[in-house]
Order: sequence, then C-alpha cells, then structure tokens
Amino acid sequence: MTAAVRQRGRRWRVGASLALAFLVQASSVFALDHPYESNFAVVVTGADPTLAKQTVDLLTQAHHDMAVASGVYLPDTVRVIYAGRSQSFDSIVGGLFPDWGVACAVDDQNMLVVRSPRDYPVTQALPEVLRHELAHLHFAAVVGQHRPPRWMNEGYAQQFAHEWRYGDDWIVARAVFSGHVLPLADIDGVNSFQDAKARLAYAQSYLAMGYFLRMYGWDGLMLLGSSLRQGGNWDDGFKAATGSDYAAFQKEFAKYIEDHYNWAAFLGDTVLLWILLVLIFLVLYLLKRRRATLKLALWDRQEKIEDVLYSPLDRPPQPPNASPDGN
Ligand SMILES: [Zn+2]
Repeated sequence: MTAAVRQRGRRWRVGASLALAFLVQASSVFALDHPYESNFAVVVTGADPTLAKQTVDLLTQAHHDMAVASGVYLPDTVRVIYAGRSQSFDSIVGGLFPDWGVACAVDDQNMLVVRSPRDYPVTQALPEVLRHELAHLHFAAVVGQHRPPRWMNEGYAQQFAHEWRYGDDWIVARAVFSGHVLPLADIDGVNSFQDAKARLAYAQSYLAMGYFLRMYGWDGLMLLGSSLRQGGNWDDGFKAATGSDYAAFQKEFAKYIEDHYNWAAFLGDTVLLWILLVLIFLVLYLLKRRRATLKLALWDRQEKIEDVLYSPLDRPPQPPNASPDGN
C-alpha cells in the first residue's frame, strides 16, 4: 500500500535533507552476512497496552527475519499509528488511499498507519498486516532512493507476509485463460482498480517476486539493490541481478505465467487436482441424492393413489354369509 500514500507533495516537502539523510543511513545499514545485532525500536500510538505490546513483538520478529535473510537493517525507529474512526485515515496518510486498504507504509517517515481493529472490522490477521507493511519500509531500504515498481513492492511485502490465499490460483488461471493477464508495468495503477482486478494485481505481484527470488535468490535481489543504491537505474539493477534488462525480465515472467497456468500445469498441481476431484464427487453425490429424493416422492405419491383406490370404503360389497373359502 505504499505507493499511493507517498504523495509527491510530501516527498518534495521533506525534500533533499531527508533524502540525503536516508542515503547516508542506507550506506551504513547494509551489512551482508552479519549476525543479527540491532537497536530496532517501535513506537506505537492509538493502541491499548495489549495491542501496543503485540505490535512491538510482531514487528521486532519481522525485522529480525528480514535482516537475517537479507543483511539489510531498517535504519531508524518505526512509528506505528492506529487510526480510529474519529481520525480520518486520509488526514494522516494523504489522499488516494483505496477503501479496501487496511494499512499503509510511509517510508520517507518510517511510519506505518493501520486502521484500528477497535473501530474497523478485522479483515486480515494482524501479524500478516504488520509484516506486510514493515516489508514495504524494508524494501525502500533495499532500493535506496529509487521508487520501486508497484509489483515489486507489493510482491516483496506479500512474500514476507506469506499472503497467498485459496482462490488466488483460480484468479490467475482465469486471467491467463481469458487473456487478461496484467502487464507488470500496469500494476502501478492498482489503487484505482476495482476489487477483482486489484486482487489479480496483488496475486501477480506475489508470483512475480516469488519468481524473481526463486530464479535469482536473495543474492540477486541484493545485487539489484546495491546497483540502485550506487546510482544505477532499473535496467542496471536487473542486469546486475539477472543478466538482462527490466523489459527482458517482464517478458521472462509473462512467459513463466503463461507456461505455469495452462491446463496441463493446472492438472499437474496436486492441490488443485484434489479440489477438482472433491468438487466432482460433491456434484455427483448431490445429483444422486436429488434423484433418490425424487424417487421417494414418486413412491409416496403412488402409495397415496393406491390408498385412495383400495381403501375399505371403496371395496366391492361382500355377500353376507360368504366365508373366506367360498362355502
Ligand atoms: Zn502493500
């Protein structure tokens, strides 16, 4: 959720001093292969003591995980603001924040703003939300002063928060089958997307960053970050990490997604195959049950008809002295 809230105005208002300070900090916080040793601190406002403690614990653990994996530390104290109904979310993070957003990261202020669970229905687990948003701050530290493409930023955050939901495979598969896969560059406009398209954009972002990390590893990501921090552009960064430029990576990922989400791959995916088999059995069971119910209803009707036809009142009158054997 970062790009939308990084308002240009604020960015320029904070200006060169922050950017310069960030660069100086960034150059001193990259310590690959160092053991975890950090003064990471969190200040929470708008939360009761229980929520505040939970927040600090979750973020400290998340920061540890990120630093150990990447060797990149966050340079400063992270502020977390829980925004309630009385406080307009927009007044804190600026406009352009979509209705479906739960939280956002403002990286030039090292700040996370989260809709207060006290005032808003909880739609997502807190650990997931906090890991996701902290990852945005972390990714900003990885790429330095550059503004990352939205798919990278969201994909990185989702990978860290393990956000892949049941149904995401279907969403991507449907987009591939119908020819509606989003070009990675288009995902920059995700804040203006409606719910279904936004979900596809997030799913593709997750897959794209997962693909990058699987193919080129943390080393690749750190090479990309280091190239960017040294003043390179995105083409330089991708060349350092993957051997080819940014456009080539986008083509490579488009091919991967087309190859991965076809019928053969779909049927080769054991989880999806099991879901499909269960659905088929469920449909067959329901059809069988419906047929049995219809048959029972038919028998019931026939029985009622027979009852009416052959009830004692309608039997033909018997001769008065007739015995059962006819004598
Ligand atoms: Zn996000």
